Amino acid sequence: MITVMKFGGTSVGSVEALKRSAEIIIRSKHSTVVVVSAMSGVTNYLIGHLDSGELNASETVDMLRKKHLDVASQLLGEELFASYQEELDRRMDNLEYLLRDPESHKDPYFRDDISSQGERFSSLTLSYYLRELGQDSVALTSEEAGIHATGMPGLGSAELSLTSRDLPYNVRPLLDEGKIPIITGFYGRGPEGKPLTFGRGGSDYSGAVVAHAIDADCLEIWTDVNGFMSSDPRIVSGARTIEEMNYSEAAELAYFGAKVLHPRTIEPVRRKHIPLRVKNTFNPDDFGTIIHHLRAPRGELLRSVAMKSDLSIITVNSAEIAYRPRMVARIIDKIADAGVILYAISTSLSTIALLIHNLDVKETLRHLNTLEGEEIDRIDVKSNMCLICAVGDNLLARCGASAEIFGAVREAGANVELISEGASDVSLNFVVPMDHATSVIRQLHEKYIGV
Ligand code: ASP
Ligand code: MG
Repeated sequence: MITVMKFGGTSVGSVEALKRSAEIIIRSKHSTVVVVSAMSGVTNYLIGHLDSGELNASETVDMLRKKHLDVASQLLGEELFASYQEELDRRMDNLEYLLRDPESHKDPYFRDDISSQGERFSSLTLSYYLRELGQDSVALTSEEAGIHATGMPGLGSAELSLTSRDLPYNVRPLLDEGKIPIITGFYGRGPEGKPLTFGRGGSDYSGAVVAHAIDADCLEIWTDVNGFMSSDPRIVSGARTIEEMNYSEAAELAYFGAKVLHPRTIEPVRRKHIPLRVKNTFNPDDFGTIIHHLRAPRGELLRSVAMKSDLSIITVNSAEIAYRPRMVARIIDKIADAGVILYAISTSLSTIALLIHNLDVKETLRHLNTLEGEEIDRIDVKSNMCLICAVGDNLLARCGASAEIFGAVREAGANVELISEGASDVSLNFVVPMDHATSVIRQLHEKYIGV
């Protein structure tokens, strides 16, 4: 049996957290492959300074070196600390070189290279600590492990077939020798061998990619909450952990609201029916959430209600849009050109309504306004909207489910501004003004999940 365990930033973010994570790894009865995030705060620091243009080489390296040595000195004995320091310094030197070299700044993958440095340090710390505890462990970078990536800088996707070819070749022999590999999350080996990151929070996805490639029996995502919840506990006091979900429900929830798991984590494990558990490093005895293929049917209408706020509806009016060849395609193309995420689309004969983030409105309008030849009559914007994502097993097939859900919305006194139904059979997504969102969520939770 092989388990892949992914530890997030807070789970490797302090001496205390590393002790807990190591204990969890050692307690596992299976062969274990570990994937790690950077220590919490490190990626934010690197990206924040990259953005502000204030990434000073010696300051950055001094700060990161101190942060990691401080933790390692409390975890490692003299001997291992000395060799840890040597290896860490080699990695720090590489970072310093990258930051000082004007040529590397011109590389399109420079940002990926810098922002993924934290994982290269944290993997080393955890691996050395396991060795200190008498385990045989080895730290591997994504390149050494054989995680391949493809795509634009900052927006990588794993090349699953190449990774499935190389990663077992590199990792299985280590497992056979009883070693615990600790692999860097967040990035893969991209074009020309350059590091390519999977987007913020992408280490969860790395965990799933590794589990897929090595044919793991289980993927465990170790984080700082107990699992998926039926709603945001800050909004709904009766919100509780959901013990069991299927892949589709988890994917919808992860995408639309819950920040428990990176939404892309589901796909690689779904393909091989590998069960995924979300567990709390700081409360490991809690059951957490298990996400898997089959689940016994249950009675309740909804399993969870999540929301995404600060959205805007852009409505493009043009006579008889529906009859004009490629008109809808051209509008969507403009959104793609603007590099904007579309949360929902709804069309009628003469309008198309697009749901996007408030912050993307300006850029979207700029691109839509280049459509002049297309006889756009008007473009309207409604801001400060909230997307409510109501998730339930087999929701679409249940006669009367929408009537019940919208009945509850009416009781909350909210007007529904846009609906997306029928696209997913596990979720009903609709938009209400932000100032009504909380009462809608509470009403739905109380009626269909429980107080
Ligand atoms: N360290 C990366 C980030 O903060 C990846 C991750 O934590 O999943 O986005
Ligand atoms: Mg995360």
